[in-house]
Amino acid sequence: NAAVKAAQRGENVHPATLTYSQIEKMDKQFKQMGAMFDWSKKIVTCDPEYYKWNQWFFIQMFNKGLAYKKHSPVDFCPSCNTTLAREQVVGDDKLCERCGTPVVKKELSQWYFKITDYADELLDFSGLDWPKRVREMQTNWIGRSEGAEVSFETKAGSLEVFTTRPDTLWGATFMVIAPEHQYVADLTSDEQKQAVEQYVETAKRKTEIERQAEGKEKTGVFTGSYAKNPVNGKDIPIWIADYVLMGYGTGAIMAVPAHDTRDFEFARAFNLEIIPVIMPADQNLVGETMTEAYTGDGIMANSAHFDGTLAGKDADAEGITKVIAYLEEKNIGKKQVTYRLRDWLVSRQRYWGTPIPIIYCDDCGTVAANEADLPVELPTDIEFMPTGESPLNSHQGFLNTSCPKCGKAATRETDTLDTFIDSSWYWFRYLSPDKDDAPMDKNIVAAWTPVDTYTGGIEHAILHLLYSRFFTKVIRDLGFINYDEPFKQLRNQGMILGEDNQKMSKSRGNVVNPDDLVADYGADIVRSYLMFIGPWDQGAPWNYQAIEGVARFLNRLWALILDQANEGIFTKKDIKELKFAVHNAIKEVTEDFEGFRFNTAIAEMMSLINMMTKLKSACIVGTDEWQEGITALMKMIAPIAPHIAEELWHRTAHNSSIHLEAWPSYDASALVKDSINMVVQVNGKVRAQIEVAADASKDDILAVAKADDKVAKYLADGQIVREIVVPKKLINFVVKA
Ligand SMILES: [Zn+2]
Ligand SMILES: [Zn+2]
Repeated sequence: NAAVKAAQRGENVHPATLTYSQIEKMDKQFKQMGAMFDWSKKIVTCDPEYYKWNQWFFIQMFNKGLAYKKHSPVDFCPSCNTTLAREQVVGDDKLCERCGTPVVKKELSQWYFKITDYADELLDFSGLDWPKRVREMQTNWIGRSEGAEVSFETKAGSLEVFTTRPDTLWGATFMVIAPEHQYVADLTSDEQKQAVEQYVETAKRKTEIERQAEGKEKTGVFTGSYAKNPVNGKDIPIWIADYVLMGYGTGAIMAVPAHDTRDFEFARAFNLEIIPVIMPADQNLVGETMTEAYTGDGIMANSAHFDGTLAGKDADAEGITKVIAYLEEKNIGKKQVTYRLRDWLVSRQRYWGTPIPIIYCDDCGTVAANEADLPVELPTDIEFMPTGESPLNSHQGFLNTSCPKCGKAATRETDTLDTFIDSSWYWFRYLSPDKDDAPMDKNIVAAWTPVDTYTGGIEHAILHLLYSRFFTKVIRDLGFINYDEPFKQLRNQGMILGEDNQKMSKSRGNVVNPDDLVADYGADIVRSYLMFIGPWDQGAPWNYQAIEGVARFLNRLWALILDQANEGIFTKKDIKELKFAVHNAIKEVTEDFEGFRFNTAIAEMMSLINMMTKLKSACIVGTDEWQEGITALMKMIAPIAPHIAEELWHRTAHNSSIHLEAWPSYDASALVKDSINMVVQVNGKVRAQIEVAADASKDDILAVAKADDKVAKYLADGQIVREIVVPKKLINFVVKA
């Protein structure tokens, strides 16, 4: 995209040059920020060594019928000049996910991945620790709905229709079939023959898009025949209208004008009967006087013995379930499930992407490239400006090839793959980026995946996070892994806004540039501030004053650990309080880190630093408790301010890296405030004395007792068969060898 924009400005930069220079720039930024990655595992998705495996996956999916080509109306961005997947069209305004331009519909032959084969599995989030919001967004996007397939008898045979609202069947007053429906000729009466033929002829010249356009005037023609409504035996007229398409469902619908907007308009336009069968709580609808369809929930009426049943999609409504049971019992219909999810459109009319490894041969048809010939390389000498047709189409050297099956002259597919495919499996490749005989190494993958914790923006909910789950299941079915889900725990970070509380954007002039900040403050202060700015999962507006506060915090840490202490004395009570503060901070910071509460973790460390600064004197600095405190502080700040932590570590006489140290653990007994001593016995023999809170619970007392080294030694000899706690006095463990 950037290269296209640059070219539009009159600069001629090849996408490859631009991409690699951006990667170099970002690598530098990451390193400057102290991002600790294993750089030997770096992958670049536009390298042929990487996209070769996109192509390999495509071929496996093609062979399994999971990749297929279909001609149908698709979403097309007139600005990006390419088709888009439905997931990449955003909001009710239908805007392009990449550039924000409203998309248009076009009829094109495009490649799809059959993600719908996995629809039910993708609805299953069991065992996953994912935010509720993401689970809900995916569930709604997949949009499973239960309905019924119902048969209507006609003179040409039975017409099957699918409805999500079988509870409105008694209100079906006419049927509509597509102009291409196979029954059209048989259903048309002699009187209607001429009108029907004319209508069908006109419909042929329209595109699906024109036929489905909303707000257009309803057109249609009566066949002269009737169908029998299976629930009440009424004869209802069968119409032909072009808004019903053969491609979706069965090409026939039952029309319930009282409760469906489009059916209502059609009925009014052609003067067809309207029978309300769902009544709102406070109203009695009458067909003749209705001014619009009633689409809300309500109570069934005019529906024989179902009258009075609660109808609709509400959880309490029994109408749908009861009617389906009735249809099945009478053998006139059956339960059926449909999904909102459609297959993933993966063709793009773009130059910069993975070439689709497909060859068209006049004799053999659509043939996958030989795996041995991969990668099908993207040529570099090309006019890449998007025109709506794939740029590769005009590159003769790329286009013309020979058929892998028969060897005759053939042509290549010239569309490229959606770049979301690159990111649908990349983490597997990190583990063995140089492997050249398979996309991943089974053994290494088994040892390292699934991913324990994955973080990313909520904007990926129905894009990357859905595609990755789909790909993981495909990879499982290809035999590489034996689990179902890519990411066990998912957390979404919030967004950092501009100082004006608005989303950062160049046009608003509120963008904060990380490079400038690192130059001014250093990476550690910027990192610490980013963690301190607000709850990690919610984000916050940028605040220049607050970053100064964070700078002072790191300076105080530096001074606390390295500055010469003044003379002074300390008491036994000081030591006890110090120990409490240190271990309490370790406990709180550990829990905060695990819960992604980095801002409160930093606040904990700040208060420990304040406390220790007040206590600091030449004498106390020499105690074990003090050393324990500063050691814990350095280790806890290390993930947030890695450079400063490392420097402090070396200046306090350590030789190895702090980043190789274990995380500090806390001592529960140090957290006991108003304490009492208790005796611990094992089989009646006194083995230790422990200190516990005066108000400690039985469980807490037992936990402290068991954790005591001297006690643990004896407990390890056998099985605890009894635990006796005499309040404020003693604990006795009865152990059997
Ligand atoms: Zn666009
Ligand atoms: Zn051939």
